Amino acid sequence: MKTGYNGLAVPGPTNMPFQIRQAMEVALQDHRAPDFPDFTLPLLDGLKDIFMTRTGRVFIYPCSGTGGWEAAITNTLSEGDTVLASIFGQFSLLWVDLCRRFGLDVDAIDVEWGKGVPLAEYRRRLAADTDHQIKAVLVTHNETATGVTSDVAGVRKILDELNHPALLFVDGVSSVASIDFRMDEWGVDVIVSGSQKGFMMPTGLAVIGVSQKAINMGPQAGLPRCYFDFQDMIKTNDQGYFPYTPAATLLHGLRASVDMLKEEGLQNVFARHHRLASGVRAAAEAWGLRICAKGPEWHSDTVTAILVPDGFDANDVIRTAYHSYNLSLGAGLNKVAGKVFRIGHLGWLNEIMVLQSLGGVELAMRDVGIPFEPGAGVGAAVRHFSDDADAFRTAAE
Ligand SMILES: *Cc1c(COP(=O)(O)O)cnc(C)c1O
Repeated sequence: MKTGYNGLAVPGPTNMPFQIRQAMEVALQDHRAPDFPDFTLPLLDGLKDIFMTRTGRVFIYPCSGTGGWEAAITNTLSEGDTVLASIFGQFSLLWVDLCRRFGLDVDAIDVEWGKGVPLAEYRRRLAADTDHQIKAVLVTHNETATGVTSDVAGVRKILDELNHPALLFVDGVSSVASIDFRMDEWGVDVIVSGSQKGFMMPTGLAVIGVSQKAINMGPQAGLPRCYFDFQDMIKTNDQGYFPYTPAATLLHGLRASVDMLKEEGLQNVFARHHRLASGVRAAAEAWGLRICAKGPEWHSDTVTAILVPDGFDANDVIRTAYHSYNLSLGAGLNKVAGKVFRIGHLGWLNEIMVLQSLGGVELAMRDVGIPFEPGAGVGAAVRHFSDDADAFRTAAE
């Protein structure tokens, strides 16, 4: 029998705060009731603040993040349209795969896993595309498989400098509500997020932000769509309703999530994630282990993928952590399977919870025989959190 809390250190689902659990402890309700819009309209509006948009719209679909990808492309593009993308991890790969299954012509740049969106390559291809065949540019803001964050603003800058009209689609499933993201300022046309990561909720909602430009593509977008059609959403959302039965229970959790994020303040949420992530990176360094992200410009503040030394299998660390210490770590996916384990550090989290994960990693690594000084990583994180405390308190004020 396992006692104590389950350690959840995967990059989604993340830890769910008590307030969100409690908010969902409600009787099921009539989603066509006359007062339902009193609940839904402010929620849709509040989510705009999380995406940092005033000019865009927010749609909520009862599905996981993958459905958000599908909504983005089917509402805006036609079969055979050219899309520019890059692959540097399992999630950026799957998004490209989805586009190809819908018959899009994807120019997918293969990038070394551990790096992110190749800005120079994007610029070169967009500059060469003088007759504007590229209809959309895809950016995976935070590649969860490798712990790599990319420069979305940099892609917008390139599009603007070249005066290129392509739509800008961003996968923000593991960045929104954890890492700085600005839909309007960065001119993002569709931002895709999901409930089970930065929103600290159970899986089950894709929450997406859509620009007016993307919505205007509807009439000419030839890809088949039904469930994800923005127009159906707009017609009913404007009145505070949904075209089909909404996941109302989850929406109550989402309300609590938005309230918590706003109460902490988004800038403070970002600063907290940076502080906790820096502690994890300090631990990896103290263990003498490399992380998958190839340089500081790629460091992710929501997930760190840590490479085990040659001759070891990262899955042994993950299995031992789970079976012996009731701690879930993220596995290496695809190209990095067996090479990395991932520590998720996003959502409802504090220093103590991060130290718990780091301590669990140390136990598991020691059990499988990876050489390091016990306490080195935990100690480095303690030192980091302690030394950084004053700066952080100032930032939080
Ligand atoms: C989790 C994740 C997804 C997939 O979302 P699902 O909710 O599993 O469908 C997509 N992209 C990124 C970057 C993710 O982290």
